[in-house]
Amino acid sequence: MNDLTHELHEFAKQFEGAVIRPGDQGYDEVSKVFMAQGSPAVVVRPLHAADVALAVSFARARGLELSVRSGGHSGAGHSTNDGGMVIDVRKLDGVEVIDPEANVVRVGAGALWGNVAEALEPHGLAISSGDTKTVGVGGLTLAGGVGWMVRKYGLTIDSLVAAEIVTADGDILRVSQDEESDLFWAIRGGGGNFGVAVSFDIAAHPTGDVYGGMVMYSMDDIKQALTGWRDCMRAAPRELTTMFLVMPATPGFEDMPASCMVLVCYAGDDETEAMHAIDPLLKLGRILNKDIGRKKYKEVLGDAHAPGNRKVLTNNAFMRELSDELIDTICEKPEVILQIRSVGGAMNDVAADATAFAHRDSEVMIVSPAFLAHGSSAEDEAEALAPWRKIAKFGHGAYINFFNYDGPAELEAGYPPATLKRLRAIKKQYDPQNLFHHNYNIKPGE
Ligand SMILES: Cc1cc2nc3c(=O)[nH]c(=O)nc-3n(C[C@H](O)[C@H](O)[C@H](O)COP(=O)(O)OP(=O)(O)OC[C@H]3O[C@@H](n4cnc5c(N)ncnc54)[C@H](O)[C@@H]3O)c2cc1C
Repeated sequence: MNDLTHELHEFAKQFEGAVIRPGDQGYDEVSKVFMAQGSPAVVVRPLHAADVALAVSFARARGLELSVRSGGHSGAGHSTNDGGMVIDVRKLDGVEVIDPEANVVRVGAGALWGNVAEALEPHGLAISSGDTKTVGVGGLTLAGGVGWMVRKYGLTIDSLVAAEIVTADGDILRVSQDEESDLFWAIRGGGGNFGVAVSFDIAAHPTGDVYGGMVMYSMDDIKQALTGWRDCMRAAPRELTTMFLVMPATPGFEDMPASCMVLVCYAGDDETEAMHAIDPLLKLGRILNKDIGRKKYKEVLGDAHAPGNRKVLTNNAFMRELSDELIDTICEKPEVILQIRSVGGAMNDVAADATAFAHRDSEVMIVSPAFLAHGSSAEDEAEALAPWRKIAKFGHGAYINFFNYDGPAELEAGYPPATLKRLRAIKKQYDPQNLFHHNYNIKPGE
């Protein structure tokens, strides 16, 4: 028995969850994530906070590389590694209304947002999360959470009341506005840098049915449609959050005609008001297809489509204004997929320094995936990203969760200097040895 095997054997006597090693049943499944294949020496699946603390202490004492995983949708593959430990919190997936008066819900970090929506529906509640069912609560919440009700209720972190975090020392802390308030500030946008999140207490929002769906326009009408969409959204009630999708002909998406599309979620169940808000979006150009109707909130969340045998480079940027000049740049020659997300509203009500998510003054966020063959050269990548670069010039920052590669430029785009400085100081206090570095890594400050 080698040293690690022996030590894990001892560890497993106290650890109540599963310990999965290469060769064990299920290892192939737990060693990979949505965008990456890893080969960790061990994957542990804790059953409670004390298990998490044991695993963190083990990894620290043994000097193991440590990754933390909730839903496994990290675009950069941060939630697995080679040769280290993965703490996979998927078994911590409870969803419980803990304060019915204030609608506070305790959500396990390992729950998936589709399951959360499903569990809250009988209570007439919902949490503004992302747009995809299989994305995990942990990774999305710690970086912000931009979802289908962002204009009405802000980011997911804007409804966060408290969290349970296991720090690098193995301490189990409750963090809130009044407890470990610096850490509470940092985990609202700073990602997984500060510890393992076990659960989040989130003030959910009373939500009945919503109105959602899509309208597809001819690409020939893109300029008129995009300009009209911008003007509609400027006048729209906050219940309406939408996304303008630019879909040029793209290899791998042959079933999608070149088109532009407006995806809609109206967070309210009054049909007259909903249709009054949505109606202007049905007159932006020549309609190729349309499907909008009354739905459960859980039904507006979609499925994730794996990139298949392709390399994806995803970029994003916040735009203070969707100006005429930016619209011209986008529409001149649409050659790259763009998701232009309406943000603003409640998201912008929060002060830039109130949480570690500072980009609070934008009209839209634009996300752009570029698809390449595996093994493509640096020249191929530069060529694929050239159309995005023209658009990115208009931006002033980015959402760390919508990159799928990792470097200093991405970190700086995610956090303005004052935010980064404060995050580094808090990192030094809670994780001076940088145990939690498989993420968009905030290094401990000097
Ligand atoms: C198809 C798709 C759709 C998406 N749509 C949206 C969207 O609409 N809105 C949006 O805001 N984002 C969206 N995202 C981005 C998503 O928020 C990030 O990819 C997020 O990191 C995924 O969280 P996860 O828990 O599934 O990922 P994981 O891979 O498990 O984790 C991602 C990162 O968070 C860290 N982490 C995860 N759990 C914990 C924990 N419990 N404690 C400490 N650190 C942890 C990991 O170490 C890793 O660095 C989408 C991503 C995909 C792939």
